[in-house]
Amino acid sequence: MSKKPSKTQKKEVEKQKSRKTYLFRIYPTRKQTQTLEKWLDLCCEVYNAALDERRSAYRMAGVSLSNEHQCAELPGCKEVRPELSAVPSQVLQNVVKRVDSAFDAFFQRVEEGQKPGYPRFKSRFRYDSLTFKQYGNSFNVRPANKKNRGTLILAKLGQVKMVMHRAINGTPKTAIVKRTATGKWFVAISVELAEEDISEKRLWVSEAAVGIDVGLKTFAYLSTGEEIANPRFFRAEEAALARAWRKLSKVPKGSKQRAHKRKVVARIHERISNRRRNFIKQEVSKLINRFGLIAVEALIVRNMIRNPRLAKSIADASWSMFFSHLLDKAEEAGRVVVRVNPAYTSQTCSACGHCQPMPLSVRVYECPQCGLVIHRDYNGSLNILVDGLQAVGRHSRVIPEAPGLEPWGVVTKE
Ligand SMILES: [Zn+2]
Repeated sequence: MSKKPSKTQKKEVEKQKSRKTYLFRIYPTRKQTQTLEKWLDLCCEVYNAALDERRSAYRMAGVSLSNEHQCAELPGCKEVRPELSAVPSQVLQNVVKRVDSAFDAFFQRVEEGQKPGYPRFKSRFRYDSLTFKQYGNSFNVRPANKKNRGTLILAKLGQVKMVMHRAINGTPKTAIVKRTATGKWFVAISVELAEEDISEKRLWVSEAAVGIDVGLKTFAYLSTGEEIANPRFFRAEEAALARAWRKLSKVPKGSKQRAHKRKVVARIHERISNRRRNFIKQEVSKLINRFGLIAVEALIVRNMIRNPRLAKSIADASWSMFFSHLLDKAEEAGRVVVRVNPAYTSQTCSACGHCQPMPLSVRVYECPQCGLVIHRDYNGSLNILVDGLQAVGRHSRVIPEAPGLEPWGVVTKE
């Protein structure tokens, strides 16, 4: 049965056309900051208005408004609210587009049989980014020279100081200007890579293959017998976070102190996500350097996080970020990542194929059939490797009890 590719799948295909995003810190002047803040407020207002309009149209008349319809209303809005004219029109159009995407994602998940939350209104604090499309028109980039480390030029705002710690390769497509919760500004410039840039990143061919089982006690277990230990810093940071939250809740709403405490909380969040990102980047690049084929489980992380008992450790270990980063880097380097069906990877004996239930509390696999005694996650990683090799036709052996091994997504670039 052939199914129409969903929007998210299409997005993935587009991503495979090799885009890369560069993140640079920018330093708007005080005046520019005020303007950007004002734009964010206005965009947030437009976002909520567009969302509200869609909801009402659906509730009152049972109609679904289209993106085109809502975009066509923007000039009318500007007549009523002249301030909107100060915001570059492409940025405003993108706001309406975001509402459209939120609804698309919502309907997509309904179709998949999930029960997603209805798209929600955004608060001023949460609305923190502006999208500039069309390089050369609504934004421009001037590389570093002797005098400065780069310049970002934005429509209706002008030149903004930017620290380009690395040169951009490829053609810029979009620029997303983002304010962090601590009041720093960044720009994410996404570029389309030229073919030669892609091949440059290719590593030498590696025949080595590895299966990776992500776990709770350890971050991951490799089929080589090695472990990647869990980053424990999150626990310590969590305590700091709880303290900061307690302090925040004691301060009266709307006070200056409140704004300050809110920033403290945001800073801790920022620190956690930076440390997590560094950890993942390091581990992924080690793996990519060593192995030509990497087999992982196709875990639906979103579902697992719903299970409250597992939530902390999983969020902590950041698997979903690990997987997506792994896929990105593997593609750039011309490595193969196979995602295998996770159904029996922990229950099957990696030596003889015997299958038995393995509750999470059981840390060691003891096979009654062949007598194998092996760490639970190590056993899993061996099974994942076998499944992965089989999925790409480099089979080693067949496990009789294993289910139909459909590779869930083989990412490869020839
Ligand atoms: Zn066995």
